[in-house]
Amino acid sequence: MYLKQGPIMKKIIFSLALLTLLSCQEGRPHGNQYELPELTPNNYLIGNLNDNRSSYRVSFYDINIDFDIENKSIDGYVTIKAESIRDLNQLQIDLAEKLNINKITYENQELSFSREFDAVLIDFNYTIKKGNFFEFTVFYDGVPQNADNPPWAGGFTWSKDKDERDWIAISCEGEGARIWWPNKDHITAEGDSVRMKYTVPSNMVAVGNGKLRNVITNGDKSTYEWFVGNPINNYNISVQIGNYVAVQDTFIKDDTVHNMNHYVLDYNKELASNYFTQSKEVIRFYEKYFGDYQWYEDGYKLIEVPYLGMEHQSAVTYGNGFSIYNGIRSKSWPMYGVIDPLIIHETGHEWFGNSVTASDPTHIWIHEGLQVYSEAIYFEDKFDSYEVGIHYLNTLKNRIVNEIPIVGRENENHWALHGDTYMKGAWIMHTLRSVINNDKIWFSILKEFMTENAKGFANTNDFFKKVYDKTGEDYWYFAQQYFYSPNQPELEYYQSDEKFYYRWNNINDNFIMPLDLLVNGKELRVFPSKEYKSFKTSKHSQIEVMDWKFYVKPVLVNK
Ligand SMILES: [Zn+2]
Repeated sequence: MYLKQGPIMKKIIFSLALLTLLSCQEGRPHGNQYELPELTPNNYLIGNLNDNRSSYRVSFYDINIDFDIENKSIDGYVTIKAESIRDLNQLQIDLAEKLNINKITYENQELSFSREFDAVLIDFNYTIKKGNFFEFTVFYDGVPQNADNPPWAGGFTWSKDKDERDWIAISCEGEGARIWWPNKDHITAEGDSVRMKYTVPSNMVAVGNGKLRNVITNGDKSTYEWFVGNPINNYNISVQIGNYVAVQDTFIKDDTVHNMNHYVLDYNKELASNYFTQSKEVIRFYEKYFGDYQWYEDGYKLIEVPYLGMEHQSAVTYGNGFSIYNGIRSKSWPMYGVIDPLIIHETGHEWFGNSVTASDPTHIWIHEGLQVYSEAIYFEDKFDSYEVGIHYLNTLKNRIVNEIPIVGRENENHWALHGDTYMKGAWIMHTLRSVINNDKIWFSILKEFMTENAKGFANTNDFFKKVYDKTGEDYWYFAQQYFYSPNQPELEYYQSDEKFYYRWNNINDNFIMPLDLLVNGKELRVFPSKEYKSFKTSKHSQIEVMDWKFYVKPVLVNK
């Protein structure tokens, strides 16, 4: 049953890079951006794992696409190798409605299919028994959607480089990979491996994820074959086409030398070969706190693109101008002049998002909130200063709006990529660290959550299960307040004679978070409730609510 058509899902802001939040907000259409989107029929089909999707698992995608740059069109076929989870005689794949399907074949027969919005229901002529591997091929073509504002409103970017040569890129987080190739377009449906063959004019280079296996030139066209030997989110699969050259570097870990082959436009080779070395420091930082990089066999590379950048797995795209100070994002966010904001943010997603993926996009704070939080830890580590980490978080605080919960509804293809997912998400992690008040435990929570869920999926509940395992305390009340409600706890307080009075406002009934006050320069942990509590203190005491450690709003009242 389809639901009634709702208003078009708002162009919410598929903001991917941290500091993109500013430009993302600048680029927003008018109206209240902070309503949870209504469920549309298309998102009903794409957002949940209905019977025709849960009945099979994708093991391998073989993507073959020929690019017609002049006409901004694509012509290709994708072979999907799958394993049946139960007996099935039909299944759903997904491909944008606007692309044509020419035929679907299975064992040399053409299969019949029907289309409903972006869903394609394929009928097999007989039952495929549970546990079988089978493969079918979708032949398709068409003009894919353009990116209105990549990467937040994604699609194809058909651009020109400085020398007026074609330069093309694709980004599709939120929109889904189905806007350019057929697949099972659910966040948990990662193939075990993917081969990509991109055919482009032979004077250009097509750069994909993973390792380059082969280039075959045939007349005025060349086919670049790329391979990813690991599970990969569909939206992370991307291609960049331009006058690229490779910038080679190496990364040494445990006496093993790993190759890094970045790709930049030919005229930026020298600039990039010096600048991109900072990615190595970034990788070492993430490995220290969050476990091993998971894609050594697929490599790590940065690829220059005509938009800001995106966390495409093992092929992080970069468009911040090769400058810590003068890049587009660097200007609004110089990050203390020590690191390129795009490189640290998008590379960090190799951990948050690419390795540990939210099991539903409504839990995408696991990608973005943890990512922004990890940047505060980076500065804390880099400067060996807890205060610098707090300073970083404080600079983000005024972007929090507290209008909708960070986690919305599951199964509705709701990519919760609004500002609070980033900034408040980071502040929630910082607050939880303060509540737990034991850094050894806190950092082991983060590292174990990342390593135990590496190359896997997790949701908000999984995170708090890990917190419970490590602390013995049930912090679900904390999750309910901070992730499932938009309300920022308020500490109402006043001092009268020799007593300090305080209580919570704007909280869930079960919210029992402790809080630290600074009383005449000394930290004091209190356990506020909805009813006033008090403690004795000397007259004219200097008391501060430590809102640099806790995401709470101090409200001084006159009594
Ligand atoms: Zn991000």
